[in-house]
Amino acid sequence: MQEQLFLLNQISDELNKDLDLDNMLQRVIDLTVTHFQATSGSIMLFDEKRRVTKYILQLHNISSDQANRILGQVLGEGFAGWVLEHGRGDVIVDTQEDDRWYNYPNQPYTTRSVVAAPLTRKNRILGLVTIVDQEPRHFRQEDLPLLNAIAWQAAIALENAQLFYQTELERAKLSAIINGSKDAVIVTQGDDNKVQLLNPAARSILQVTTENWQNHPLQTISDLNGLLETVIAQAQDNEEVRLPDGRTMQSNVVDVPNVGRLTLMHDISPLKALDKMKTDFVLTFTHDLAAPLAAIKGFVELMKMDGFLSDQQLEDLGAIQLSVNQMRTLISDLQELTRLETLKNMQRCDIVLNSTLQKSFEAFQPIAEVKKIQLSLDSCADILTTFGNPALVSRAIENLVENAIKYTGPKGTVSIRLSSNGENALIIVNDTGLGIATEKLPNIFDKFYRAHTPGENEIPGSGLGLSIVKTIAERHGGKIWVESELNVGSTFYLALPLQYENEMGD
Ligand code: ADP
Repeated sequence: MQEQLFLLNQISDELNKDLDLDNMLQRVIDLTVTHFQATSGSIMLFDEKRRVTKYILQLHNISSDQANRILGQVLGEGFAGWVLEHGRGDVIVDTQEDDRWYNYPNQPYTTRSVVAAPLTRKNRILGLVTIVDQEPRHFRQEDLPLLNAIAWQAAIALENAQLFYQTELERAKLSAIINGSKDAVIVTQGDDNKVQLLNPAARSILQVTTENWQNHPLQTISDLNGLLETVIAQAQDNEEVRLPDGRTMQSNVVDVPNVGRLTLMHDISPLKALDKMKTDFVLTFTHDLAAPLAAIKGFVELMKMDGFLSDQQLEDLGAIQLSVNQMRTLISDLQELTRLETLKNMQRCDIVLNSTLQKSFEAFQPIAEVKKIQLSLDSCADILTTFGNPALVSRAIENLVENAIKYTGPKGTVSIRLSSNGENALIIVNDTGLGIATEKLPNIFDKFYRAHTPGENEIPGSGLGLSIVKTIAERHGGKIWVESELNVGSTFYLALPLQYENEMGD
C-alpha cells in the first residue's frame, strides 16, 4: 500500500513537472513498469476517431520505426480493441489461455501476462496504458486499481497539456497575426497609458527604439510626444493622424474591457494620394470645360443677334442653350462638392435658422407659384441657432426645397418646417411629389445618383444636390435622412447641432 501511494505521488510529480507530452508519458511508463517489475509497457494516445496518434514504449531498444508502424491505426482487435470496446481495463493472466490476446508477428519478446487500463476523460477514451510481462500470472486482478489510478492521473494531465497546447497554439497564431500586421497595434492601460502591447509596425511608427517598453507609460518610450498625445488623447474613432514622415494614418480607438485601450493605426497615405489625384483631376477638368461652354453660350447669343432665324432654328438654339446650362450646373455642382470635400477650415458663426428658412422660403415662393405649388413655412416659436457657415447651411436648405418643388407636380404642396429635439435643430422639407422607390432610398445621397430615369420624367439635374447637402450636414456635425413613398411624396430631415446661448461666442 505504502509503495503504491509512493508511486502515485511520484507519477503525480512527474505529470506536473513537465508540459512536454512525450517526456511526461515516457516517465510515467518507466515508473510504472519498474514498479510492477514487468518486462515492458506502453502508452498509446488516440484521436477522436480512435486512431493511434502517439505510441510511447518503455523498451528503449525498440526502433522508432517499429513503434511508428502502429500510428494511424484503429485498434479494433486484440486486447486493446477489447478495452476500447468495453471502456474498462482488465488483466490477462496468461495470454496462451485468453483469446483476447493477439500476437503480432516480429514481437521482440513473448508476452504471457498483461494488465491494461484506459485513459478516460469525460466519457472519451484518450489513450491506453498497457504493462506486459514475459511470464504468465505476473499480474493479478488486484493490480488493476493501481493502474486505473495511474491512467486517471495521466488522463487529467494529458487533457491539461492538450488545453495548454491549444491555448499556446491560439496565442502563437494571434501573436503572429499581430506581429505580421502592417497596421500598428497599440494596447495601453490606465490613466498613464502603460504600454501592454506594441507590434513591430507600432514600434516603427512611434519610433520606439528601446526594448524596455512593456509596462512603461507611452509618453516615456518615444520622442514623438506630440503624436503620442494625439493618439492617446483622442478617444474617438476614425481620426486621421499625420506622421512626421508625411504618412497619414487612420486611427481606431476602442476600449476593450479587461485589456485596455486598443489603438489601431492603418496607413491610408496611398488612398489620400489617390483622392488628391481625383480632386486635382476634377478641378482641372471642370475648370477647362468652363471656357468652351461659355464660348458656346456666347455664340448661341450671337447667332440670335446675327439676323433672321426660322422658328425651327430658334428652337434648336434653345435646346443647345438648355444643354449648355445643364452642363454648367453639373460643372459648378461638381466643383462645389469637390471644394466642400477638401475644405480644411470653414468660416463659422452663429446662424439663426428661423431667418435662414424665412429667406429660403421667400426666394422659392415665386418659383413655386409658377409651378402652382403651394409652398408653406412653419417656423419654430423658439429661436433656433446653429454654429456653422451661413452660405453652406443656406445652400443645403435650398437644395432640399429646390428638389421638393422640382419633383412635385402642379397643385402639389411643399412644406418647410423647423423644430428641435433638444440636441439638434430639425429642418423638415416635405412634399406631395413623385416620391422615391424604397429600393432606391439607400443610394439617394450618392454622387450622381438619380432615382428617376430620364425617360420617365424629364426633370434635369446633376445627381449631386443631395451629396452636397449630405457633405454640408456632416461638415456641421449634423445628419440628413429621408422618408419617402413612391407617388405619395417625400420628407427630408436635416439635423444640425443646436447652439445654446451660453455656448455662443465661445
Ligand atoms: P438631382 O440634380 O438629380 O436633383 P439630387 O442629388 O438633388 O440630384 O437628387 C438625387 C435624386 O434623388 C434625384 O435625381 C431624384 O431622383 C431624387 N430626389 C431628390 N429629391 C427628391 C424629392 N423631393 N422627391 C423625389 N425625388 C427626389
